[in-house]
Amino acid sequence: MGKACLRSPRAPILLRISSGLARHLRAGRRVEAAPKPDTLRRMHPDVAASLAATDPLLSSLIAQEERRQRDKIRLIASENYASEAVLAATGSVLTNKYSEGYAGKRYYEGQQIVDQIEGLAISRAKAVFGAEHANVQPYSGSPANLAVYFAFLKPGDTVMGMALPAGGHLTHGWNVSITGSFFRAVQYGVRKDTHRVDMDEVRDLARKERPKVLFAGGTAIPRTIDFPAYAEIAREVGAVFVADIAHIAGLVAAGVHPSPVPVADVVSSTTHKTLRGPRGGMILCKEAHAKAIDRAVFPGLQGGPHNHQTAGLAVALAEAQTEAFKVYAAQIVKNAQALAAALTARGFALITGGTDNHLILADLTPKNVPGKVAAKALDAAGIVLNYNSIPFDPRKPFDPSGVRLGTAAVTTRGMKEAQMQQVAAWIDEVVQHPADAALHARIAGEVAELCQGFPAPGCA
Ligand SMILES: *Cc1c(COP(=O)(O)O)cnc(C)c1O
Repeated sequence: MGKACLRSPRAPILLRISSGLARHLRAGRRVEAAPKPDTLRRMHPDVAASLAATDPLLSSLIAQEERRQRDKIRLIASENYASEAVLAATGSVLTNKYSEGYAGKRYYEGQQIVDQIEGLAISRAKAVFGAEHANVQPYSGSPANLAVYFAFLKPGDTVMGMALPAGGHLTHGWNVSITGSFFRAVQYGVRKDTHRVDMDEVRDLARKERPKVLFAGGTAIPRTIDFPAYAEIAREVGAVFVADIAHIAGLVAAGVHPSPVPVADVVSSTTHKTLRGPRGGMILCKEAHAKAIDRAVFPGLQGGPHNHQTAGLAVALAEAQTEAFKVYAAQIVKNAQALAAALTARGFALITGGTDNHLILADLTPKNVPGKVAAKALDAAGIVLNYNSIPFDPRKPFDPSGVRLGTAAVTTRGMKEAQMQQVAAWIDEVVQHPADAALHARIAGEVAELCQGFPAPGCA
């Protein structure tokens, strides 16, 4: 069935999944002895057809979303395209299995296969990141962080993290989050003149507040994070140092961003951003913290792990060990820097003046357009990003001054510096004419045309 569906531009991914998995398994055989691809090729017999028959409405919605992802330039910094192999593992019968506990210590029978799958994900995570211990059960990045709190803190204890408006994450102690209401959260920001974290400020605050846990990382940080400096501060004040690499995990895996693993007590992450796995979370840590972390995830916070997700992560981690992944990660940064330079040349004001990673934060104040107006106009023009607060934003979080851009997804589909020039030109045109629907429609057509030359994994 694979061939015919491959030719149909409208065939949903589900029809093509099994051939993608078989291809990946063939490619991966050199690394580990994989089962014969032929035995797995029948894993999804007529899966798309059965979805269409059971639930035509949902089937059609998935097909529409697939086309949206195919025909638009996706610049949301936390998004990517998981490979067909990852999609195949995630959409498998593993969703049927319960496996509370850890390998060898489960609360249900029938774990012969699941133990091996989780074991593979763990050993690959340790290999990719050079970690002493890995827990691959967190449902996502936020639960991974909550497990870290449960491992090291009691309610009311002090945690220190970057403030959300400065580029931190909700789960690093922001007030609307459970982490900011059940714990005593102390927040650091960035300097007003440089928009970068000032490690002297972080040290002074840590000395004064004596947090039990110190978080580094965030969701809108365009620059390299100085993990050793955080580690030194944490050691000085007796805090557990947690590096949250949710956004940059793929860059860290490829050696494009310095790794916190040697210096951090704990490293938390999502698995679906630059790492390009399925939705999920993961915690790496020193052996000394392994028991506390494992207990905090299960039975502390979660019940049964999502085995289909664990399998998808195992596949993504195998992909992360390839040469192609290193090339992809390096190109993410080249693309972000090319896009940043092109936007700057067109008069955009970039926070910190540029980027070291996959992410760009632009202040649209000089363009006289609020972030949300620009984001909505760009979406209409086929360029998808999110409005975002900038440091010291005079506007409200729901109507901020900036937009955030990321290059992981466009890089996955093969776009390079030349395409970034074109993207910057389109962005500039739209931002200059945020109410010109005809212009947006014209550009959306041009965007879709460009996208045709850059196949998006999982999108027929
Ligand atoms: C995305 C992100 C998270 C949360 O991940 P979810 O999977 O959305 O729960 C946590 N920390 C950081 C720094 C993030 O960027």
